Amino acid sequence: MSRLAFLDELLVELEAVGRRRMPRVITRRDGAYVWVGGAKLLNVSSNDYLGLSTHPALVEAATAALEEHGVGAGASRLITGNVALCEELEHALASFHGAPAARLFNSGYAANTGIIPVLVGKDDVVFSDELNHASIIDGCRLSRARTVVYRHNDLGHLADLLAEHRGRRRLVVTESLFSMDGDLSPLGQLREMTAAAGAILMVDDAHAVGAVGDGRGLGWAAEADVVVGTLGKAFGTAGAYVLGASSLIEVLWNRARTLVFSTGLPVPGLAASVAAVRLVGSPEGALLRQRLERHRRLLGAGSHIVPLVVGDDRRAMDAMNHLMEDGLLVQAIRPPTVPVGTSRLRLSLSAALSDEDALVVDAAVRRLVAGGWVVPRGTSR
Ligand SMILES: *Cc1c(COP(=O)(O)O)cnc(C)c1O
Repeated sequence: MSRLAFLDELLVELEAVGRRRMPRVITRRDGAYVWVGGAKLLNVSSNDYLGLSTHPALVEAATAALEEHGVGAGASRLITGNVALCEELEHALASFHGAPAARLFNSGYAANTGIIPVLVGKDDVVFSDELNHASIIDGCRLSRARTVVYRHNDLGHLADLLAEHRGRRRLVVTESLFSMDGDLSPLGQLREMTAAAGAILMVDDAHAVGAVGDGRGLGWAAEADVVVGTLGKAFGTAGAYVLGASSLIEVLWNRARTLVFSTGLPVPGLAASVAAVRLVGSPEGALLRQRLERHRRLLGAGSHIVPLVVGDDRRAMDAMNHLMEDGLLVQAIRPPTVPVGTSRLRLSLSAALSDEDALVVDAAVRRLVAGGWVVPRGTSR
């Protein structure tokens, strides 16, 4: 017991500073609504941007695969877990994006931590935006490359740093649509700058694929060398994929440890993902993105991710509880997910919300702002 007393102390410490994290239990889901402890809440914190996670076409595909092939892959893909649906999904993803090839990973976290160490090693340098996702940060660490963090979307800063490290293999990695701020990286300029410098450009497209523009995301269209997309967000299933040159996609079998040493994705999920890729590229997918875009415009937001920065950790939790009393589930986001002093409510809009739901969300946001909860944009950092 006493050998683990430091863990109890840690929990007390986290509690004291308002940073102890606890998941809530969702007992039922129906469209945009979730049930928590008997209360029915409008879910404005899901990354299921098109509402596909409960779509009948996905459920049907998963059910059919379940009945035909069972549940688990049974082994990593290089052993005996490479069921045909893996290959079918990879071909569908590559063809959907117009990329030479795609490779599945079990999650976006596994993709980023697996791929970055394939691209750079201890003699190389990786340049990472300061607001990049934890999985990118951890991928940089695992690569043992020198990691240089540049100021958020600051091209001048990045250009200086790239010049400082000439003569080494260099990788620039950024998100396309930032997960906690909802702003975009300047991919066109990043492509020009990295091409001129001879550096590799890797884009994490987790929040853009399926959800923005024609659904094909932003990274591959911007001619990034390596693009990571997730299936757990707009595609409504689970897993992730990387797009890139055939050589990269092949090398992953030999070097990406999170791919090689992990059991393949469950078969029903693969079938649901194939259906999701089809749906995202269909006229129905376009209609869902139109509805998402309508909600975005109603809220006057820059994207479907709407950060309401509160600042203080506990105050952010209070704001969250406030909204919950109004029937809205909006998760408060605290450090280390966001920088200290920028705790926030992160609203994520979804096509699962009806137009009436979106009006309810808009009214709640207005009440929060009028109540002085939200720090005006631009003054938070
Ligand atoms: C969610 C997310 C990931 C991780 O994806 P999972 O499939 O949930 O593991 C990676 N990168 C970014 C930017 C994300 O937001």
